Amino acid sequence: MSHTDDAPNDLPPNFIRDRIIEDRQAGKNGGRVVTRFPPEPNGYLHVGHAKSLCLNFGSAAEFAGRCHLRFDDTNPATEELEYVEAIKADVRWLGFDWGEHLFFASDYFEQLYGYAVALIKAGKAYVCSLSADEIKEYRGDFHHKGKESPYRGRSVEENLDLFARMRAGEFADGEHVLRAKIDMAAGNINMRDPPIYRIKHAHHHRTGDKWCIYPMYDYAHCVSDAIEGITHSLCTLEFEDHRPLYDWLLERLADGGFFSRPLPQQIEFARLNLSYTVTSKRKLQQLVQLGLVDGWDDPRMPTLVGLRRRGYTPESIQLFCERTGVSKANSWIDMSVLEQALRDDLEGKAPRAIAVLDPLKLVITNWPADRTEPCEAPVHPQRPELGVRRFPFGRELWIEREDFAEQPPKGFFRLFPGNRVRLRYGYVVECTGFEKDAQGRIVAVRAEALEDSKSGTPGANAYKVKGNLHWVAAQSAVAAEVRLYDRLFDQPHPDASGRDYREALNDGSRRVIRAMLEPSLAGAPPEARYQFERHGYFVADRVDSRPGAPVFNRAVTLKDSWGGGR
Ligand code: ATP
Ligand code: MG
Repeated sequence: MSHTDDAPNDLPPNFIRDRIIEDRQAGKNGGRVVTRFPPEPNGYLHVGHAKSLCLNFGSAAEFAGRCHLRFDDTNPATEELEYVEAIKADVRWLGFDWGEHLFFASDYFEQLYGYAVALIKAGKAYVCSLSADEIKEYRGDFHHKGKESPYRGRSVEENLDLFARMRAGEFADGEHVLRAKIDMAAGNINMRDPPIYRIKHAHHHRTGDKWCIYPMYDYAHCVSDAIEGITHSLCTLEFEDHRPLYDWLLERLADGGFFSRPLPQQIEFARLNLSYTVTSKRKLQQLVQLGLVDGWDDPRMPTLVGLRRRGYTPESIQLFCERTGVSKANSWIDMSVLEQALRDDLEGKAPRAIAVLDPLKLVITNWPADRTEPCEAPVHPQRPELGVRRFPFGRELWIEREDFAEQPPKGFFRLFPGNRVRLRYGYVVECTGFEKDAQGRIVAVRAEALEDSKSGTPGANAYKVKGNLHWVAAQSAVAAEVRLYDRLFDQPHPDASGRDYREALNDGSRRVIRAMLEPSLAGAPPEARYQFERHGYFVADRVDSRPGAPVFNRAVTLKDSWGGGR
């Protein structure tokens, strides 16, 4: 996006953009914009992270700044290397490039330790030996002031000694913590001497067993931002109450001459809540572990790998994030907004193709078995430069079962005995009969073709018919597995007010069928996306599809049909 330092008025509200513009106009940071995306490597990224990615990388790009990818790997228990690689792949796929700015908070452990020592020396931190429960009790709550720890008055020397011995591994988990010395009477509970280091004898995926003390999030995050020269540290609203602590810690370290002002500025925005899904790594992990989905990349998952496999394009997700704006108030965005962004992105790009999803045989009785007639259709109706697809017309065709009625309901313009329809890009045919099996199920329909009605030939338009059906010739059709995906949950807020979201799972979220496709789809490369005429947008599954044996996933229907007429 090109940029002018005037608030653009044709874009959805984005107060962060406005804020950056203000800072630049005031000359803050010399006009520089440096942001970061700080995932904890404890799961795969989801659509909520996409929002944060678009915001961080997008803001940096818009103002010719840079965005860092920083793994917030300060918690040794939950991180895995698998997730680091997966997250990098996801960020790249979404279209963002951190260049050489790849960081790990764990790379700062030594510096973080050094700054903690400096805080102790400045009388701004102390080692507290209360138990976790006691610390909680002493902290008070919204209505009650906190109580000072009996260890708050420890001398600098004693604190330095204890902290060094914490690091050296002399104590068990939980025996001591290092706390910032702020104000136990503060209205904001986060300011009541928060722990900034804890003892945890645990193996870390990058630092191994080097450390047995680990910095707390609130301490590690702001300091990492300052080390990297982040100017705008964007985070979700739950951290609003932590901002005074963020500022306090950096101010104290700036007082000590470790960082220069202006310091990084934390700015909170509303997290993305998407209806009909859950966006919490923990819950998504549970879905995977309980086998309720087929993995992190199940096409029904709101993970980026899931959305990708479902057929979402990076552009559609970016479009979605831009359209939903950035606000200060939590709200729900409807799933249909995401789905519409995909339609809008694919409408102009996706080649058209024909797929008969519920095939019923149509026999053209006046057509010789050995005769085929080439037909053609545009690859894209609005983009003639993409050329045409070719497929044959023949005696035996597949049509959709729902396109035939033995007894047509009122207003039914498709095939029924005595009626004429156009077989799209082919001929006008007149239905002459049908066959049933012993169970009374229709197994074939008979019709006669009108020889001079072929689409694109002179006089073909003289036939006025109301029905226009898609079809594929049986002889050249490609049989394929098609997975009809739908929303994973059938309730708009599956995990609202503490309910068990597993009870909101949509039983019909996946239906696997055998479909008949036009011949050109036989060689569809993995991840090729098409509009199957009348049915929606489909993608060749990137895991299971093979040339010659394609497998397609339904990404989205052509129209929003949730809740009605399905
Ligand atoms: P989860 O609760 O799913 O584990 P998280 O916030 O703990 O999410 P992190 O890996 O810590 O996950 O998040 C990385 C970044 O993505 C953070 O800056 C976080 O604020 C942001 N983020 C996570 N979820 C959302 C969301 N739903 N909307 C917007 N930003 C989000
Ligand atoms: Mg987190």
